[in-house]
Amino acid sequence: SHHTIDTDAVVVGAGPVGLFQVFQLGLQGLQTHVIDALPALGGQCAQLYGDKAIYDIPALSACSGHELVQKLAQQCAPFAPQWHLGELVNSISRQADGRLEVTTAQGTRLLTRTVFIAAGVGAFMPRPLKLAGLDDFLGQQVFYELHDADMLAGQHVVIHGGGDSAIAQVLECASLPPAQRPTSITLLHRRNTFEAPADMLAQFEELRAQGLIQVAVGQATGIQTHAGKLAALTLLAPDGSTQALVLDILLVKLGLLPRLGPVTEWGLTLERKQLEVDTATFATNSPGIYAVGDIVTYPGKRKLLVCGFHEATLAAFAAIEYLTGQTTPLEYTSSSTRLQQRLGIY
Ligand code: FAD
Repeated sequence: SHHTIDTDAVVVGAGPVGLFQVFQLGLQGLQTHVIDALPALGGQCAQLYGDKAIYDIPALSACSGHELVQKLAQQCAPFAPQWHLGELVNSISRQADGRLEVTTAQGTRLLTRTVFIAAGVGAFMPRPLKLAGLDDFLGQQVFYELHDADMLAGQHVVIHGGGDSAIAQVLECASLPPAQRPTSITLLHRRNTFEAPADMLAQFEELRAQGLIQVAVGQATGIQTHAGKLAALTLLAPDGSTQALVLDILLVKLGLLPRLGPVTEWGLTLERKQLEVDTATFATNSPGIYAVGDIVTYPGKRKLLVCGFHEATLAAFAAIEYLTGQTTPLEYTSSSTRLQQRLGIY
């Protein structure tokens, strides 16, 4: 089912710097394929401080993480990037013909002449629940991401976690129409305290007071099976007692964990788990592979958005010269008809 995509440029990471990389490559006339492990755009901006204000973006005296991501996505939209979201880049390797082969854990394969690694602090992956035998039920009764709410109807559903994503999942389950509603909804957390925006917590406490949701406090230590199915989690309660939490469906919502892993396995020169780059071109040691944003290191590097935006600009110039073998003159978006055509203004 998976075909090979042929392209000139692949951007690894749809964080703020990856998005601006798409824009700069677009100005140079390149269309990009963008891959991110997350199902949403924005990297750290969206995941770690979406609703907080940023004050040091040039000409934007204040904007939230989510607003910045939305503006970056809008800015690169004229260049019609192809998104591959929810896909983890596993490998980048060079083919005999010099092109780079990029593959994802989800089976997408791309052949490209340039790659831009904007991997930040690593691929954001769901924090795994590690219990012996639990993974056998992955995709059957255990889920990190709920794709189909229909399967919850009439089931005993346990949601594990105590932060934003767990609380949001509880609220979503509790608001399902009657035909899809679970028989029971239980939030399992180590403590009886939860961290989420105040309005969400208020809704949560109200549902709890109405008896529409339950809370189980304890540490999951194992699983119990019955007739080949996952039947319960074994819980160690705060008082030291052991209980069984019966369930049909387990939704694991323990938050996200950045996983640097793959980036360190692509044969690129690293210093303290960051990619070394030439600050004139943002090229790595491997021809055609560039790196920008929080993933890179060089003398004077600062992990700031503006620095990443500068890096992406120079990487795009370097890449077009690498691809064409010609020097690229500087053109201004305010006056170049060629750039304005690419932007779809003409
Ligand atoms: P990231 O934002 O980390 O995005 C990288 C993306 O790549 C992620 O979405 C990840 O899932 C994806 N990825 C990585 N590896 C893979 C892979 N193998 N396969 C698929 N996808 C992959 N900076 C400022 O300038 N001003 C501020 O006010 C500011 N406030 C901040 C507040 C907080 C709380 C934090 C944590 C940071 C703040 N920063 C601020 C720093 C800023 O957020 C980072 O510099 C910026 O996010 C870096 O962008 P990036 O695109 O390089 O990486």
